[in-house]
Amino acid sequence: MSKIVILGAGISGHVSAAHLRRKLSKKHEVLVVSPNSNYQWIPSNIWVGIGRMKSEKILFPLAPLYKKKGIGYKQAKAISFFPEGDKNETKPYVLAEYVAGKNKGEQEKITYDYLINATGPKLNFEATQGLVPGENKTYSVCTYTHAGQAWKGLNEVIQKMKASKKAKILIGTGHAKSTCQGAAFEYILNVEQELRKHNVRDMAEVTWISNEYQLGDFGMDGMLLSYGSMTMKSHEMVEMIFEDRDIKWILGAGVEKIEDGLAHYENLEGEHKTETYDFAMLIPSFSGHGFKAYDKNENDITEKLFKGFMIVDADYTPKPYEEWSVKDWPETYQNPSYKNIFAPGIAFAPPHAISKPRTSKNGTVISPAPPRTGMPSGITAKLVADNIIDSIKSGKESLNHKGSMGNMGAACIASAGYGITKGSGVSITTYPIVPDYEKYPKTQGRQLGKTFGEIGLAGHWLKLALHYAFIYKAKMKPFWWLIPE
Ligand SMILES: Cc1cc2nc3c(=O)[nH]c(=O)nc-3n(C[C@H](O)[C@H](O)[C@H](O)COP(=O)(O)OP(=O)(O)OC[C@H]3O[C@@H](n4cnc5c(N)ncnc54)[C@H](O)[C@@H]3O)c2cc1C
Repeated sequence: MSKIVILGAGISGHVSAAHLRRKLSKKHEVLVVSPNSNYQWIPSNIWVGIGRMKSEKILFPLAPLYKKKGIGYKQAKAISFFPEGDKNETKPYVLAEYVAGKNKGEQEKITYDYLINATGPKLNFEATQGLVPGENKTYSVCTYTHAGQAWKGLNEVIQKMKASKKAKILIGTGHAKSTCQGAAFEYILNVEQELRKHNVRDMAEVTWISNEYQLGDFGMDGMLLSYGSMTMKSHEMVEMIFEDRDIKWILGAGVEKIEDGLAHYENLEGEHKTETYDFAMLIPSFSGHGFKAYDKNENDITEKLFKGFMIVDADYTPKPYEEWSVKDWPETYQNPSYKNIFAPGIAFAPPHAISKPRTSKNGTVISPAPPRTGMPSGITAKLVADNIIDSIKSGKESLNHKGSMGNMGAACIASAGYGITKGSGVSITTYPIVPDYEKYPKTQGRQLGKTFGEIGLAGHWLKLALHYAFIYKAKMKPFWWLIPE
């Protein structure tokens, strides 16, 4: 009998748990340890943040589902890792602390045979002074609670505009090294549409602020897209969309400090500037959770497990930008020092940025971190689960399931406006996520045809369809496994 412990119940943790439980007999234990009592479908937070969807629609409680499916669940957060056990415990374990219920505050050693670290990112608001969601008129849409607050803040500004007070709206990244430009892009399009619906668009100045060098970089160095029968650069497409909707933009901006209604930033020219706003949604930087690791003698071995995020089978050798290769990216998400530990989704340490790193004239790095979206999070979670299942069934290590972000695609479907007939969408599909300049030297590392952009209602329908399909899948309803990751 094997015990598989999964840390985190986001997209990757939940996907791993579901596949493990479906394919392993009940004599093996599958246990999820996660602090949030609910599963949330994060992409739909965008609609919560414009008041068009209630957060109840994008979440459901984990405990009843896990009980029904025979998956163990502890509402707790991992604190530190002991991959060799300790002086008293011979099995590897994770030290976790309960965050709710009668055990709240208690710590427990949770032993395992296999460990899946699917803890995603820490939303590092503290890295930018004053960037506290709900304070200083800045908001976030990274969790359903934040998105609910964002709608409250936006609605107040809309009501003021209805009473003839002009407003400035600022949306984008809140740190020089933030990622997730796609989510901010989707939100700005939705907010802009929402202002039209409330008949206050002419009262608002809407501005995009981002650490990207060019519009449409998305932390992926931009892309050359098929657009109908033409090819187009992603920056041209986003420029066209912003110009069409009268959205202004500030690029190469590293937001360094927020005060009430003031975003202070440094740009690539090394200038320090300030943008005023009445409502802002700024994505924070992401970081690892700061976990510590110890060997059996309780010596600190954190550097064997973590490099900010968790170390996996990537090539972390520092190299100049020109020498980075798609081959540096991991394929099995296995920790090289402890072969029974895996880190799918956002929890693994990327080997390098994808977007060309840039520094300001003062030496400040102002450049997007690599994005890791939902689809790769699901795919990597499933392949990790499949390798563990094969290893358990065959009795020896099996790593046949592989997948690199250099041979995986990502779809950024930015709905703009909510509703079956009124919405529209901007869909940008990229293949592969990490450009492969050897395979596709003439098309900026991407395969044309599989890398394309579209504007229209179809993208919006697709986003809505994905919302329902993925919540159905996450609830493990009949034949859920037929829906791809
Ligand atoms: C607003 C927004 C919109 C997005 N839209 C899209 C989209 O349209 N398409 C797309 O593909 N992607 C989208 N993404 C990205 C997508 O949501 C992420 O790629 C995905 O959620 C990553 O999954 P994950 O499981 O790695 O991390 P997460 O989903 O962040 O899950 C991490 C889990 O770990 C838990 N955890 C945290 N700390 C601990 C701890 N100490 N111990 C145990 N558990 C812990 C958390 O509670 C959570 O359950 C969007 C992101 C945002 C913020």
